[in-house]
Amino acid sequence: MTHSEALKLYDLELLEIGKQADTIRRRINGDRVFYNRNRHINPTNICADHCRFCGFSVHRKNPNPYTMSIDDVVSTAVAAYDRGAKEVHIVSAHNREVGLNWYFDLFRAVKTAVPNIHLKAMTAAEVDFLSREYHLTYDQVLDKMIEVGVDSMPGGGAEIFDEKLREKICGGKVKSADWLKIHELWHSRGRKSNASMLFGHIETREQRVDHLLRIRNLQEKTGGFNALIPLLYQRENNFLDVATPLDSEEILKTIAVSRIILDNIAHIKAYWVGLTVNLALVAQEFGADDLDGTIEKESITSAAGADSKFGIDRQTMIDLIKNAGFKPIERDSLYNEVG
Ligand code: SF4
Repeated sequence: MTHSEALKLYDLELLEIGKQADTIRRRINGDRVFYNRNRHINPTNICADHCRFCGFSVHRKNPNPYTMSIDDVVSTAVAAYDRGAKEVHIVSAHNREVGLNWYFDLFRAVKTAVPNIHLKAMTAAEVDFLSREYHLTYDQVLDKMIEVGVDSMPGGGAEIFDEKLREKICGGKVKSADWLKIHELWHSRGRKSNASMLFGHIETREQRVDHLLRIRNLQEKTGGFNALIPLLYQRENNFLDVATPLDSEEILKTIAVSRIILDNIAHIKAYWVGLTVNLALVAQEFGADDLDGTIEKESITSAAGADSKFGIDRQTMIDLIKNAGFKPIERDSLYNEVG
């Protein structure tokens, strides 16, 4: 699909584009809606970078720095595992104060304490930060992640690949080509990851389509992405001046366009944390097939205004999926069904 063909999808009526996306969704995933039992842990919000859309890191609109001890991270992971979580999802800000070993010791300690939990950790932005800060190659950082027990990588840090826009909204963090390079290197080790796209801020439809096509191209090469997560921008506590939130029609069209362009990636998440649970359920009719997880506690998106601080309980998630006419499927981090 060319850029202009993909862009034309946005000109379709909402229900027409929804129908096209739903056809692909049902071909790949039937009427299943996936979710998992997971725990998000964000061990520190002290950051060397200054992304303008970020409400999570410490800055004058969010003057509450914190760094968890490794013991606290481990006991949080153990408690989540005891409650049934199958995955911990660990993402940090780019903290210069803690040192390189804090990151790796933390992962090793979690994996030692709960060897059966799936450890999803380190965005490509964090890999790039450690590489630059400590003069390591990407290969060295990725090999170290595997050595200390990281199982898969989350999709964060992709934002929007268009270089000019990226410079404006997050000029200090990983460059687009490097984000893709890091995931390619990770996939070359036989490992899986997710991709994401931050939308609903100052990007254009053209830039969204460009972003999705770059992900599609890498997936053609490696097949290593499990899912795309279109992340809806949240407007509070940050420095991007976005007067009007994106309307639901444009959000649903973007999810549908993602499903159609990325028909080589099995799963499209409607990340309820940013969308609200209700819109995330509607999105299941527009190409999405995954609600993400119970999460338990969420610090990044809620810091920018989302109503997601305390996660969602499993039974509520199951009931909501059934009420929407779909079949709830609990999955592990690699989309295997779990009983
Ligand atoms: S988005 Fe991540 S890298 Fe950017 S300022 Fe926030 S915590 Fe730091």
